[in-house]
Amino acid sequence: MGTFKALVIDKTDAGQTVGFREFDEADLMDGDVTIRVSHSTLNYKDGLALTGKAPVVRRFPMIPGVDLVGTVEASSHPEFKGGDAVILNGWGLGETHLGAYAQKVRVKGDWLIPLPEGLTPQQSMAIGTAGYTAMLCLMALEKHGLTPERGPAIVTGAAGGVGSVAVALLAQAGWHVIAATGRPQEAAYLKSLGAAEILERSDLAGPVRPLGKERWAAGIDTIGSVPLANVISMTRYGGAVAACGLAAGMDLPASVAPFILRGVSLLGVDSVMAPRPLRIEAWNRLAQELDLAKLASMTSIIPLEEVMEAGSRIVAGQVKGRVVVEIG
Ligand code: NDP
Repeated sequence: MGTFKALVIDKTDAGQTVGFREFDEADLMDGDVTIRVSHSTLNYKDGLALTGKAPVVRRFPMIPGVDLVGTVEASSHPEFKGGDAVILNGWGLGETHLGAYAQKVRVKGDWLIPLPEGLTPQQSMAIGTAGYTAMLCLMALEKHGLTPERGPAIVTGAAGGVGSVAVALLAQAGWHVIAATGRPQEAAYLKSLGAAEILERSDLAGPVRPLGKERWAAGIDTIGSVPLANVISMTRYGGAVAACGLAAGMDLPASVAPFILRGVSLLGVDSVMAPRPLRIEAWNRLAQELDLAKLASMTSIIPLEEVMEAGSRIVAGQVKGRVVVEIG
């Protein structure tokens, strides 16, 4: 067994340290599949882990990185063999299990899915957990019976990773998309992804009225807190909002009025522990439905050496679209 390069978070009495080191393969955690990682990504959660702004990391030392694509090096799992291209999102990677900002990982084969046909490794990570979560949100709205004929769909945090993919997916599915953003200078970008209207974040920041003017039939919310409460209060009769994020806060200062007087539903979306069949369905749909030219236009690529700086920017709300991290 040898060593490999990894970004490692350690906890000391003085606080958290983050730095590169040669990691011993013998110190990898239990698992039946060893993977050579080619790409990872930067998600909001990775930013929280890297900056220590929230207790995302549950074990030290930790290699952060919640997403990966790579090639199987060794496997005793019946579904995977050496040379297979695989992806992994979540399941505690980078939180409780040594993660993706490293040349090697050892994980449970049950966590893996084959790289979906039609996507390159880099494209799969341009989608990453953010894009897969955006698809889970769309699927939740559809399962609720919502269709574009019911009215517009709003996306909050629209210029971020989940938001950008959500705008593109909803537009592709025929929705009139209202992109809510704190960066109105990104209006042209959001329209190029398929947004029909831009709403300023400040329009969702005001006091929450129990029932606001009915403006949209569906919503994908990536930010939580007051903006989510306002989105709910402005949802049309029988509509629904898929909530997946907390960039504005964990709280939800909402009224029950939209639920009990308009039959509005709040749909919780989790990607980390989502069951495998749901993941496979989401990834197959992403491979078929997401416009790869739009995906390329929302993606930037950085080397692993730049991920710490990028992690600070994502928690400050300064990252646009998706960030692929080259590990290779
Ligand atoms: P990004 O940082 O790329 O996107 C978040 C966006 O939210 C920003 O780009 C910005 O958009 C907006 N935003 C940032 N800070 C604030 C603020 N203080 N108030 C209001 N809006 C703000 O992150 P991701 O796309 O990676 O993740 C988005 C959210 O979804 C995160 O909270 C993340 O934890 C969550 N998430 C949840 C998952 C799950 O399984 N439930 C999986 C993946 C992500 P703009 O400038 O356009 O306003």
